[in-house]
Amino acid sequence: MPQFDMILVDEADAKGVDVIEHTAGSPAREGGGDETYRCGGCKTKLLVNVDHATAHGAVVKCGKCGRLNTEPHHH
Ligand SMILES: [Zn+2]
Repeated sequence: MPQFDMILVDEADAKGVDVIEHTAGSPAREGGGDETYRCGGCKTKLLVNVDHATAHGAVVKCGKCGRLNTEPHHH
């Protein structure tokens, strides 16, 4: 199953986007596919075994390091 490191973005880049709040200790989203996404800062797994549609365009705030991540736009 593919695993990707997400790209860090700043608050301005995430303006107007729905931010998924991740809580340290459990993935923000889990299930539905085979792609796993890690925080681009601290490598915490934020989205686990999700399908690409779930990750596409998503912005996730890491519950561990507090940074904002977006998907790396692979296809
Ligand atoms: Zn992090």
